[in-house]
Amino acid sequence: MRQYELVERVTKYDPDADEDLLNRAYVYAMKAHGNQRRASGEAYFNHPLEVAAILTEMKLDSATIAAALLHDTVEDTAATHQEIEEKFGPDIAALVDGLTKIAKLDLVTKEAAQAENLRKLLLAMSRDVRVLLVKLADRLHNMRTLEYVKPEKRVRIAQETMDIYAPLAGRMGMQAVRDELEDIAFKVLNPDANKIILARLEKLHAESGGILKSIEQELTQKLAENGIKAEVHGREKRPYSIFRKMERKLLSLGQLSDIFGFRVIVGTVDQCYRALGIVHRTYRAVPGRFKDYISTPKQNDYRSIHTTVIGPHHMRVEMQIRTRLMHEIAERGVAAHAIYKDAPDAKEALDGFKSPAAESNAYRWLRHLVEMLQEGESPREFLEHTKLELFHDQVFCFTPKGKLIALPKGATPIDFAYAVHTSVGDSCVGAKVNGSHAPLVTELQNGDEVEIIRSDAQTPPAAWEGLAVTGKARAAIRRATRAAARKQFAGLGREIVEKMLAKLGKSYAEKEVAAAMPRLGHKNIDDALAAVGRGELSAIDVMKAMGLTIDDTKLKELRRKAPARKADAEELSVPVRGVSRTVALKIAPETGAVPGERIVGILMPGEGITIYPIFAKALEQFDNQPERWVDLAWDTGAEEQRFPARIKVSILNEVGSLAQVTQAISDLSGNIDALQMVAREGARDFFDLDITLEVHDLKHLNEIMASLRGKTAVSDVSRTTG
Ligand code: MN
Repeated sequence: MRQYELVERVTKYDPDADEDLLNRAYVYAMKAHGNQRRASGEAYFNHPLEVAAILTEMKLDSATIAAALLHDTVEDTAATHQEIEEKFGPDIAALVDGLTKIAKLDLVTKEAAQAENLRKLLLAMSRDVRVLLVKLADRLHNMRTLEYVKPEKRVRIAQETMDIYAPLAGRMGMQAVRDELEDIAFKVLNPDANKIILARLEKLHAESGGILKSIEQELTQKLAENGIKAEVHGREKRPYSIFRKMERKLLSLGQLSDIFGFRVIVGTVDQCYRALGIVHRTYRAVPGRFKDYISTPKQNDYRSIHTTVIGPHHMRVEMQIRTRLMHEIAERGVAAHAIYKDAPDAKEALDGFKSPAAESNAYRWLRHLVEMLQEGESPREFLEHTKLELFHDQVFCFTPKGKLIALPKGATPIDFAYAVHTSVGDSCVGAKVNGSHAPLVTELQNGDEVEIIRSDAQTPPAAWEGLAVTGKARAAIRRATRAAARKQFAGLGREIVEKMLAKLGKSYAEKEVAAAMPRLGHKNIDDALAAVGRGELSAIDVMKAMGLTIDDTKLKELRRKAPARKADAEELSVPVRGVSRTVALKIAPETGAVPGERIVGILMPGEGITIYPIFAKALEQFDNQPERWVDLAWDTGAEEQRFPARIKVSILNEVGSLAQVTQAISDLSGNIDALQMVAREGARDFFDLDITLEVHDLKHLNEIMASLRGKTAVSDVSRTTG
């Protein structure tokens, strides 16, 4: 086909077509594909041109035809998305982009069992219905030229067509495309069955071939006598539809008799029912085979009356009775809607769309299409504004093995991991998206291939709950964090119980502790130890349950035994001895604590352990809970680390005082983490500074405090006791 022929075809059904656009797209694609050849040896450009031609048969708008001409340029030539956008505008560029993205999806390699989800993926990726129309035309032409492809690849492409594209065409109501795709695929996938069925058809045809012509004539005449002008077309059924029927009904080829089908096409819905009466008066109807898809259309908007009658030679004959518009819609589906809004029976034929009965979500969009149609937009506007809203709240991603995982929009690799399996989620430490490391907060996109990096040592951090969008992931993270916390508190509880026993001169024996559990109301030892760890159960009660007695003197003795020093350090990185590393440690903010100071740990239910310097006032409130005290000692070797210490500095209220203080601190390489000025009541000449320093240890802190005391502006320096 030549350039002018293509343009002529389009202008024939669409006088307003953008001829300039068509010409430019033709030339651009022809140049871009240059000397490229197809498997058949012909010029590659023939392919996009044929795809465009198929779409002209569907009478589609110029933008769709242009997109068809350009559909392989970005994927297969030097052309870029940017260039297409500059030359043809954002609308065409978006269409081509959609097609390029689909082309990059290697669906052939994916598991066939997931065909339904793969179809959803295609729908979700084709934001514009025209992308799908071009894709189907592309596939149709590739199937028509499949014989040139190597046998092995041929089978894979045919299978993919059978699994994904043919059903998709069916869903979109494009029966003619579906039939052709299936027929070619069937021939490739099941050549023997195809051959046998063809042979049988030939035999039946020879025996009763005249039946087609005779029924056509007889029916046309009968209908005309009753004032109905009708077209009657007889045809043999396709090998693949016969094969399916044999499979479905477990029939042998010999049992198969109704291989002829007729279509009776009339003007109005009323004539459909009158024609049905005439058919049933002319031939005997087969009971149970009557279906009225006009009063109850199929979900893809298929409408027709079906009946089976006994024709000449006692052959069963299937009849489909429908109007011209119904016929167009049955053959061309979505594409037909765009063109036929002005047809005389359009209103009547389309009204059924408003019926809310049994409408599945999957076809909401189709109704939406028709509603827009009825609002009176031109076919072109109609297509342009028809965005496929289907499945847009979902993303579809793949595992490295090709398994498809459907997730809600906004899902992250964490959701993906939990969707694969809870154990994968619980052990997830990282992810690769399309082969590259990606943060776990990455929002997944359609078609992403996600590989989860796992470690058995991992426990999901509680913060992940905020990163996950799926309920499954959130619940699993909560469960895992709870379990980890319980384990941590059980460890802590055991240490507390061990220490308490040690103070009483006993050693820890699991059996003895376990024996005391029932008396404490806990089923197992871990639960009880976790309760001790959380501070819900006192270690003294555990001692009592074990039959050990503690007198008052001993109780007092158990209190302040901790060798304490002071320090502040970040949570979890406090270098102390005397407690398991799995316990969360925090330095008391009221005082700080630095290495060199005597420190003591206080168990905080639900939080872990807070470290206080031994002089902290806050410790008084724990005097009666010796079981919450944990002996701790600094374990510093790393001089780099700094710890918080809070001090109070009184200074003269005059210019330069504050500068003296900050200078003294920085001269000794102390850091000021926080500084607050507090006016002193009744002493206008002085200010108190509340400073949180970051220092290496007690020696460092003392040097700074001594230096501050030597400053003229400083009247007093002291450690904050909380
Ligand atoms: Mn192509």
